[in-house]
Amino acid sequence: MENCIFCKIIRGEIPSWKVYEDEHTYAFFDINPKSEYHTLVIPKKHYVNMFDIPEHEAVNIMKAITKIITIYKEAIGLINVQVVNNNGEHAQQDVFHLHYHIVPRHKSDGQNIIWPKTKNSVKEKFDELLAAIKPN
Ligand code: AMP
Ligand code: ZN
Repeated sequence: MENCIFCKIIRGEIPSWKVYEDEHTYAFFDINPKSEYHTLVIPKKHYVNMFDIPEHEAVNIMKAITKIITIYKEAIGLINVQVVNNNGEHAQQDVFHLHYHIVPRHKSDGQNIIWPKTKNSVKEKFDELLAAIKPN
């Protein structure tokens, strides 16, 4: 897509620190890193987010993530990592080209946990929530 910042990175129009690349995916350091090796993994084709990507392409992203964290494990001994994916404006998606964050974590790294607080009121509605997604 013409004006998409991540499409521009794939086309080489904007510089990036490439970590990994294959036929379907590209991975590079996040420009605002939350930790060392904070990496973004993106499909080479433009998809807005997980609502937009076909299953076979989603599989390619997961394969790339698995490969990259294995590279980090073997090269730098990584054993704690958060894989984060935001879909939609109200889910903290800022760049509308699908991406997964790989965020290495370490004991006492001083970061807040990247996870919302538990909502106990939701637990009371589990049966209702399941009923709403069952096919007729
Ligand atoms: P999100 O908030 O999940 O949409 O994440 C978008 C991420 O893209 C942010 O963490 C940004 O720091 C990152 N980002 C934006 N522009 C660039 C860029 N040119 N190179 C690397 N990362 C970028
Ligand atoms: Zn794009």
